[in-house]
Amino acid sequence: MNTFHDLGLNEDLLQAITDLGFEKPSEVQDKAIPILLNSETDLVALAQTGTGKTAAFGFPMLHKIDINSRTTQGLILSPTRELCLQIANEMKLYGKYCKGLNVAAIYGGASITDQAREVKRGAQIIVATPGRMKDMISRRLVDISKIEYSVLDEADEMLNMGFKEDITEILSHTPEDKNTWLFSATMPKEVAAIAKNFMHQPQEITVGHKNEGSKNVTHEYYLVNARDRYQALKRLADANPDIFSVVFCRTKRDTQKVAERLIEDGYNAGALHGDLSQNQRDLVMKSFRNNQIQMLVATDVAARGIDVDDITHVINYQLPDEIETYTHRSGRTGRAGKTGVSMVIVSKSEVRKIKSIERIIKKAFEKKDVPNGMEICEVQLMSLAKKVHSTEVNTDIDAYLGDINSLFEDTSKDELIKKFFSVEFSRFYNYYQKASDLNISGSFDESRSGESNSKSTRYFINVGKKDGYDWMSLKDFLKEILELGRDDVFKVEVKDSFSFFNTENELKEKVLAFFTDFKHDGRFVNVEVSENRGRSGGGRRDRGRGKRRDDRKGGASSGGEHKKRRSDNKSKPRRSNSNEFASSRPRRSRR
Ligand code: ADP
Ligand code: MG
Repeated sequence: MNTFHDLGLNEDLLQAITDLGFEKPSEVQDKAIPILLNSETDLVALAQTGTGKTAAFGFPMLHKIDINSRTTQGLILSPTRELCLQIANEMKLYGKYCKGLNVAAIYGGASITDQAREVKRGAQIIVATPGRMKDMISRRLVDISKIEYSVLDEADEMLNMGFKEDITEILSHTPEDKNTWLFSATMPKEVAAIAKNFMHQPQEITVGHKNEGSKNVTHEYYLVNARDRYQALKRLADANPDIFSVVFCRTKRDTQKVAERLIEDGYNAGALHGDLSQNQRDLVMKSFRNNQIQMLVATDVAARGIDVDDITHVINYQLPDEIETYTHRSGRTGRAGKTGVSMVIVSKSEVRKIKSIERIIKKAFEKKDVPNGMEICEVQLMSLAKKVHSTEVNTDIDAYLGDINSLFEDTSKDELIKKFFSVEFSRFYNYYQKASDLNISGSFDESRSGESNSKSTRYFINVGKKDGYDWMSLKDFLKEILELGRDDVFKVEVKDSFSFFNTENELKEKVLAFFTDFKHDGRFVNVEVSENRGRSGGGRRDRGRGKRRDDRKGGASSGGEHKKRRSDNKSKPRRSNSNEFASSRPRRSRR
């Protein structure tokens, strides 16, 4: 493998590389940099997240532009504000010895005048998000008519986020004969189309297989009942005391809820989703970067900008709707040469998706058991023992040693150790000694053959044709208010004044809880499990049937029932980091 020197970069850049501590080029850098330095060509480069793509296009761009000119020559488009800022910062670091270099970052949510001023200063390179860039072009605050190099970074994400039109519009303001370098982790059809329509005979490099996950990530799944999802999450966290993780949920609501429960239960957790203000999101990300948050619960969209290198675990609390999204989630760990684990908590009804994911990432999942209570106690105990063993002694304790010694005068070393560790151990032991086994049997193959009606629940809902619904509009309505995915509501059957629909059993609690006092157009919408098994099973009823008309009382009281049923979650034990002798000191940094 080459050194950076072999690749042909100039002295200023090599000096910066030494400062950054990059010893040798990563694979994508090794492949892309010589091509970009030595030829005027378009390029499509496919490589996983965390493989060093920024430097793969950043160094060649810095090498090739004319620093003495104040014309904008390079344009880098990236999907999110976070990435945009991150790339701009990296470019400044790479170019720290290039005298006269100006890099401007252009993104939404900040002053457009300030950004225009940055550009005016003579920015040779602009790093931008598509939305704000388009805005600035239409207000004539930027001139990209002399661009020589344009980069589409994380092209798959930009298209996912609906920036296709913006990108098209932006590129139409750039010269025909510029070079375009497209970087992407995956190659869906949409990216291939961009390459075809906007690029001229691009050279193509691929690191690993297309759409393949990072080599450094192992994949595990845990099969549990849907109602045990949260308990399983806690056990996975407790079994990994030094976990530093992103926990993915499907909806903003679930994200918020899971984060809140974790915090209540004493974990260092935080939520990241689109309903938070930019300011709140910045704060959460700051705490995560400082390791004050160990479990960042996030939606897929919000997690796109996460650029933290040492994430140990990605936990799929729920699987994503789109299987491709899994690649992005798991790519948040195993970055920069480190290893990582991607865990999936899966219920029987969706375990078959694991197989489809395996096909896409071309790697096998390992089916693992959720650790039982005693295993967790052991892990926690040994982790504490190691921590004590490696703790530096605080000599200020010397002053109290006399008193402490006299207290333990008659205590042997063994006994002292036992007592000392019991402080921590008993907490976990008491919580976990009666803990049940959360694992259920079955694999995706078994579950596939057992795929039957009994896994879905049929509901009655008191709206129908009279209210203007047909099956399609009712399905859309339900999906939207319940924040469900494409196929989560099915077998919708609309009658005159009422209707039926199905969901997977695991969504039952959510559906019923949602409709406990839901009003639409000024009237209560009542949903109950239907006893009508004819259509698809629907399962046992826990409440009476036959409430075929508006029945407010029924709806409200059944809501109370559901809430009661759900409130039996215990929340002990508190997280080890939030008490033990750690509680009074500032956050330890992991490792
Ligand atoms: P990608 O864009 O592919 O997701 P990044 O460009 O963000 O990856 O790089 C991931 C991390 O790896 C960054 O922290 C970066 O500083 C580091 N990195 C990049 N190239 C090298 C290298 N050659 N040697 C060591 N670390 C590197
Ligand atoms: Mg990147």
